[in-house]
Amino acid sequence: MTGVTAAASESGRSDGAVTDVDVVVVGAGFAGIYSLYHLRDLGFTVQVIETGDGVGGTWYWNRYPGARCDVPSLEYSYGFSNELQQEWEWTEIMPAREEIEEYLNHVVDRFDLRRDIKFGTRVTAATFDEATARWLVETDAGDRFSAPFCVMATGCLSAPTMPEVEGRDSFEGRVLQTSLWPREGVDFTGLRVGLIGTGSSGVQATPEIAREAEHLYVFQRTATYSFPAYRGMMDPELQKSFKANPGDFRRRQRRAFAGIAGFGGALGPAQPPERKILETPWEEQLEVLDELGFWAARAWGDVFVDLEANEAGAELFREMIRRTIDDPEVAEALSPRGYPIGCKRLVFGVDYYEAFNRDNVTLVDLRKGAIESITPTGIRTAQGDYEVDVVIFATGFDAMTGALNRIDIRGRDGQLLRDVWAGGARTLLGLQSFGFPNLFIITGPGSPSVLSNMVVGIEQHVEWIGDCLAYLRDHGLRSIEPTLAAQDDWVEHVNQVSEGTMYTAPTCNSWYLGANIPGKPRVFLPYVGGLPAYIERADAVASAGYEGFTLA
Ligand code: FAD
Ligand code: NAP
Repeated sequence: MTGVTAAASESGRSDGAVTDVDVVVVGAGFAGIYSLYHLRDLGFTVQVIETGDGVGGTWYWNRYPGARCDVPSLEYSYGFSNELQQEWEWTEIMPAREEIEEYLNHVVDRFDLRRDIKFGTRVTAATFDEATARWLVETDAGDRFSAPFCVMATGCLSAPTMPEVEGRDSFEGRVLQTSLWPREGVDFTGLRVGLIGTGSSGVQATPEIAREAEHLYVFQRTATYSFPAYRGMMDPELQKSFKANPGDFRRRQRRAFAGIAGFGGALGPAQPPERKILETPWEEQLEVLDELGFWAARAWGDVFVDLEANEAGAELFREMIRRTIDDPEVAEALSPRGYPIGCKRLVFGVDYYEAFNRDNVTLVDLRKGAIESITPTGIRTAQGDYEVDVVIFATGFDAMTGALNRIDIRGRDGQLLRDVWAGGARTLLGLQSFGFPNLFIITGPGSPSVLSNMVVGIEQHVEWIGDCLAYLRDHGLRSIEPTLAAQDDWVEHVNQVSEGTMYTAPTCNSWYLGANIPGKPRVFLPYVGGLPAYIERADAVASAGYEGFTLA
């Protein structure tokens, strides 16, 4: 490896001097933490830089009440260390935010990783120098790091967005955002709260805030399909059987389409492929509804492959809302219409719909009159004013590209990544982009990432990158970059497999497509072909000496 001239543990210098390391890693969530562990283990010096004051990424920032994972804890955890798997005890099947944050802090301390993480520091720029084939990484604290390799572990859902609502700064109460929640928590007792957004974050927060606040107004622009989340304490026998053979379980995860082996606890009933909703009379559909509740909408082989069948499933879902909600007008307002089930990221909630039967919860259906402005005392809509003490934005993220585009990343010829991606992100395998040698992205656009159990995708990416850096070192090479042709082929393949799915239905507007961000090009960002097919392709590329990449 070239030019290691200073220990990474000095953690940067603000006197303008440049600190040399082998790899700069940006971000200290699941991806950054494992990158540090793995690359250090391979003998590279690594510096991690993290905006937050602690590790955890998603699980550090999203401290809103009710924040919880919807993948079972045994599945949503690292597989790289048997010792770690043997000693860590999960308490719940679907872990709460707090437990995941605790777990990641344990990992960092157990493997002595904290000394190579610089906290409270945002990377502002990364510039590639062609002559030396090194990246210069600069931060808002004035640090300058030079490294041949840069790993962007910046997260797919880490760039929060807040809509530009007129008068927002005039509000005299408190403005909060689910993804930037105060560390000390918030006591809503006696307060009137306005919550904007009914995606996963809004759905999880609604019942929790409703239990505490004097009154909760939920401002809904698009009604969601929220499925009941599974909740329960970990069965000690289940955990024991996992620990008896974690290796086998982890191998099964990588062979599973979404990185979930189906072992760690209930996720919801499976879809029996032979049962077709379009061939089933309404009365018989209702029997399935009696048995499965909201899950009945998905429990058919044709619902995710046929728009007409999907609409039949949606009607069954709406029937369940009518059964759940006391007030028919509220039930109708909560009923999702006009887009298919499965077009957006699945939303899971506990007591979400039931919260709207409470006297202290009001649904404000923005389809009847949009938000016009924030006033000093509340939220003004075309259907009236709502006086509140707190406004909460649960309005999501500039997903998959946002965190990268917020950094001035300059590759060959000084080109900016966000300019190159202005018409849509382009990568080879989601790992690298043409024109940006030695810059790796973990779970980047064009990889299964957000369509799978993300921890599995992250581990696979980190190991692929580790193998690649070791290969370059062993072969006396100093740079790697995709060829334009291989990248174009991959982008075409990513688009092709997304065609005909619910994700790209004409009526679908999701953050997967960038549709939640004004002006963002409508491009389907993740790879929908499944983790096994992806891993097979990535492994084949590596085995063939990094076919489709230029090595120098
Ligand atoms: P992150 O955890 O997002 O970490 C990225 C880190 O990079 C952040 O800490 C950020 O501060 C830092 N960073 C970014 N830019 C910079 C910069 N310029 N300088 C310095 N630091 C920077 N996935 C699932 O598979 N299952 C789930 O149930 C699930 N639930 C989720 C719930 C919520 C509320 C959210 C928001 C996401 C959820 N996800 C879930 C997705 C989740 O993001 C991933 O599972 C995983 O935690 C991502 O880890 P990461 O390390 O890649 O990114
Ligand atoms: P989101 O899914 O993008 O939802 C944002 C919500 O805000 C939507 O209801 C959106 O309405 C609304 N909104 C945005 N701008 C608005 C405006 N100007 N006026 C009114 N409403 C507005 O964001 P999220 O809920 O934070 O979730 C993002 C992703 O994080 C999830 O999809 C998931 O991947 C992950 N997550 C997972 C969990 C979990 O349970 N594991 C929990 C939280 C988050 P429209 O639909 O009309 O745009």
